[in-house]
Amino acid sequence: MEKRMVDYFISLVKIDSESKDELEMAERMKDDLVAMGAEVIFDDAHARTKGKIGNLIARFPGKIDKEPLLLSAHLDTVKPGKGVKPIIKDRKINSDGTTILGSDDKSGIVEIVEAIRRLQEQQFKYAPLEVLLTISEEIGLLGSKNLDYSLLKARRGYTLDSHKVGSVTIQAPALNVIEIKVLGKEAHSGASPEKGINAIQVASEAISKLKLGRIDDETTANIGKISGGVANNIIPNVVTLSGEVRSHNEDKLQKITNEIIKTFEKTAKKYQIKIESKVFEAKVDAKVSKDFPAIIIDSNSEIVKIALNAAKNIGIESEIEIGGGGSDSNIFYSHGLNMPILGTGMRDVHSLSENISIEDLENGTRWVMEIIKEYSKK
Ligand SMILES: [Zn+2]
Repeated sequence: MEKRMVDYFISLVKIDSESKDELEMAERMKDDLVAMGAEVIFDDAHARTKGKIGNLIARFPGKIDKEPLLLSAHLDTVKPGKGVKPIIKDRKINSDGTTILGSDDKSGIVEIVEAIRRLQEQQFKYAPLEVLLTISEEIGLLGSKNLDYSLLKARRGYTLDSHKVGSVTIQAPALNVIEIKVLGKEAHSGASPEKGINAIQVASEAISKLKLGRIDDETTANIGKISGGVANNIIPNVVTLSGEVRSHNEDKLQKITNEIIKTFEKTAKKYQIKIESKVFEAKVDAKVSKDFPAIIIDSNSEIVKIALNAAKNIGIESEIEIGGGGSDSNIFYSHGLNMPILGTGMRDVHSLSENISIEDLENGTRWVMEIIKEYSKK
C-alpha cells in the first residue's frame, strides 16, 4: 500500500500543473476518481480565471446516510514547476533542485485519494464524500473565489494544504490590499522649484508616520512596493505604492486600513502651494481590495474534534494552529463552509528544496482515513 501511494505521488508530481495550466492534472484526477466510483464534474470557474479547466468536484456516494464530508486540495503548483524530476533518498522525496517538488499540494491530493482507496478495499461503510480539487490557488485563490458553490452539498470538511501532519489550522487572518497614488505637482527642480509639489516627499513623510510590522497579536501591516519619479531635475508629480494589512479581527483590519489611508490624506493636506492666486495641493487616491476574509472556527466544534480524535486514535501528535496566511479555506469560510486546514507533511514549499518524507505521506493518509472513519461514526 505504501509503495502504491509513493508511486502515485511520484506520478502526480511529474505532471506539469503550474497555475492556469491544470488541464492535464485535472484530467488525470478525473480518470482516477471515476475509476474509484466517483461522479466527477467540473465547474466553469476557468471562464472567469482565464485558465484551461474549472474546479473538479468528485462525489462518492455514501454507504451510510449523512451530509457529505468535503475534502479539498488544489491542483496547481507554483513556478518553476515544469518537468519535475522527483528523487527518493533516505525515505525523503525531493526534486532534482531545478524545480519545486509540488508536494504543495499533491501530497494533499494523494492523501485524500489513497485514504479513500484503502477504505474501499476495507469495504468500510463511509459517509458520502465530496472531493474538491481547485485550480489556481497559488495565484490568489482564484479557483475557490470563482467556484460554483451550488455544486457542493457538504457544509464542512478539511482543506489539506499545510505543513505538519497533525496540525489543524482553525484561524487565519483576513487580508486587505491597499494601493495608494500620491499626486503632487510637476516642475523643474532647478528653474522653478516653488511651482512643484514633491510626491516622493509627501509619500515618504506619510510612510514615516505609519506603524508597520506587527501591530498587535492579531494584526500586521506592510508597505511592500513603491515607485515614482522620472528624472533628477524634475519634481515628481506621482508616487504609487502598495501594501497590505492582515488581521484575525475584521474590525481591526478595517481600522488599521483606514488609519493608513488617513495618514496619507492628512499628510497630503500639508503640502499646499499658491501660484498666482491658484492653490495647489497634494492629493491621495487610495484603493482597498479585500483579498480574503478571516477564518474563525470554534476549537470545540465537531469538525475540529474529529480531526484531533482521529490523530489521537492512530498515535499522531496533533496541534491546533492559528495561521498567518490565506488559503482556499478563507474563501470557503465566507461561503459558509467550515474547513479547518490540515497539515500533509509538505516542507520548504515554494522553494527548490521543497520535500516530503514517505513517513509523513503515510501518516497523512492514515490520518485522513481515520478522519473519514470518525466522521462516518456519528
Ligand atoms: Zn498550497
